[in-house]
Amino acid sequence: MTAVAMTACTGQADKGSSKEFNYMVDKFADLEILRYQVPGFESLSLRQKQLLYHLSEAALMGRDILFDQNGRYNLAIRRTLEVIYTDYKGDRENPEFKALETYLKRVWFSSGIHHHYALDKFQPEFSAEFFMNCLHQVDASKLPLQQGENVDQLLAKLARVMFDPSVMPKRSVQSGDDDLILASSNNYYGGGINQKEVEDFYAQMKQGQDTIAPISYGLNSRLVKENGEIKEKVWKVGGLYSEAIEHIVAELQAAIPFAENDAQKAIIEKLIAYYQTGDLKTFDAYSILWVEDTASEVDFVNGFIETYGDPLGMKASWESTVNFINKEATTRTRIISDKAQWFEDHSPVDARFKKEEVKGVSAKVITVAMLAGDCYPATPIGINLPNADWIRRDHGSKSVTIENITEAYDKAAQGNGFGEEFIWSDTERELSKQYGFQSDNLHTDLHECLGHGSGKLLPGTDPDALKAYSSTLEEARADLFALYYMADPKIIELGLLPNEDAYKAAYYKYIMNGLMTQLVRIELGKDVTEAHMRNRQLIAKWAYEQGKAEKVIELAEKEGKHYIVVNDYDKLRELFGKLLAEVQRIKSEGDYASGKALVENYGVKVDPALHKEVLERYAKLNLAPYKGFVNPIMKEVKNAKGEVTDIVLDYSEGYAEQMLRYSRNYSFLPTYNN
Ligand code: ZN
Repeated sequence: MTAVAMTACTGQADKGSSKEFNYMVDKFADLEILRYQVPGFESLSLRQKQLLYHLSEAALMGRDILFDQNGRYNLAIRRTLEVIYTDYKGDRENPEFKALETYLKRVWFSSGIHHHYALDKFQPEFSAEFFMNCLHQVDASKLPLQQGENVDQLLAKLARVMFDPSVMPKRSVQSGDDDLILASSNNYYGGGINQKEVEDFYAQMKQGQDTIAPISYGLNSRLVKENGEIKEKVWKVGGLYSEAIEHIVAELQAAIPFAENDAQKAIIEKLIAYYQTGDLKTFDAYSILWVEDTASEVDFVNGFIETYGDPLGMKASWESTVNFINKEATTRTRIISDKAQWFEDHSPVDARFKKEEVKGVSAKVITVAMLAGDCYPATPIGINLPNADWIRRDHGSKSVTIENITEAYDKAAQGNGFGEEFIWSDTERELSKQYGFQSDNLHTDLHECLGHGSGKLLPGTDPDALKAYSSTLEEARADLFALYYMADPKIIELGLLPNEDAYKAAYYKYIMNGLMTQLVRIELGKDVTEAHMRNRQLIAKWAYEQGKAEKVIELAEKEGKHYIVVNDYDKLRELFGKLLAEVQRIKSEGDYASGKALVENYGVKVDPALHKEVLERYAKLNLAPYKGFVNPIMKEVKNAKGEVTDIVLDYSEGYAEQMLRYSRNYSFLPTYNN
């Protein structure tokens, strides 16, 4: 599970940072591209750097997989647009070409034609006619034409998908009364298969399953109906996506000689075995080895991990991160993980849903050196894995805060005018300035390390019982755990926050974001769809409604603008505790009806008048609501004999440059994967 940055803008005032490193790379549509630094890389050993290098190559090798998972025409569209983009001979300043460029940049960013967060299809701002002219102008042999297909046929096929708003309108539909599978245009399910068929297929598969250690059925496959037969096409060597997975495996093999210890070597070998067999028991065995390795300094994630994109929460998108520990900052998270049992014991949830023994929650602060798949260019700021509840129960979980990313966010947001526009008064602005960065990082630590790791399912509860609402409720659980404890005197006693005002910076920002400012990410007239955003609105709105009589939170008006005022922080903490207890009950019991009601009543619908106002105020600031990152270029330095003498990082690459390089060097899948 992941934590993502709450807003594009933290609204913190200038802290007088050094400006030598250029964080800004590009800006288009609703997106801003930043770069991150990798502090400490130079002082790693050559062996560690070589390990990072091969793991990073393995990360980049899987790039095409996510494009195909997100939609069956995505690779065709990307490849076609790239040919036009590089070979177009006409006026590149022409507005239609500019619009095509922006569209391609968005396709790169989203790994497909749907918005990475809102999940709906974005419309090209150039005409189908212009697209046609471009296509006829370029060298047809470079286009992804299929056997017997001509340019006009390719055009007709792609134009329909790109330009017709009614075709593949949403990548993943996660609520409402429609058939969620048929309404979703992602590529996790094929052949016109419907929700009931999917549910029946997996219900049958789960019959008589091991309830102590249930397999994550469906995690690494596409489910299809072919000639009336429903079957899984597994993503593995020799299966679907084999062409990319073989390259991942080759780089993992190249990494083995540089492993820091035998445990890490065994982890990489087990991951290779999993990719070779597609066997989910092997994946669990890998996950256990991985979670138990806390000694290695270099670490990585590579695989089919998060299930946010599947309306039924089973199929995982491909992702990779490659990182090493930030030892100094990890002191902070160690304090939390050492006290994990205390936090579990004192939480406001019913004793029946608590873990008697919290196992091995390990928490660290990391520095990422490469991001890929579903972690690129939009990046989580924290990750807690593995996701299988039973592994977390029996073997613990590994939780990370990615501080070189949070730092880049923070630096890039300094002095951008956001806080001046949306924060109620200087009191809250001062809180944010003083404690914003610190309390945000602590929130991420608590969310990942303790929140996701806390609580347990009652025996016999199906881990998939909450279906389309499971991601939102799981994020809510983790956020509430973090929010509840931030205000606890224990946090000050442990030295994690300096005083009893510091948590208020995080509380204020959370409510402001959940009730108001995160709406900048949503088009007028649309609902909240993404799980993390639903979770934040759910919590903020629920607290607002429940505390209304006592005016815990107010929506105040000043000169025609609305602001959040938090009148009673103590009461707000009580409300967070109360909701945490309820969300934990819902998860532990698998109470689908209550979970659905919470999300639908508080997390989805938006007040159109407030939404309009927020969008107008935000537009004046000229900021982008979403951010993503380019990676550094990681290069081997060789001597005359061809031996590697160093690995170096180069931060000079631009956004389009990087995407085109990745498409040239790391693209292995056929255009259509059936
Ligand atoms: Zn999370």
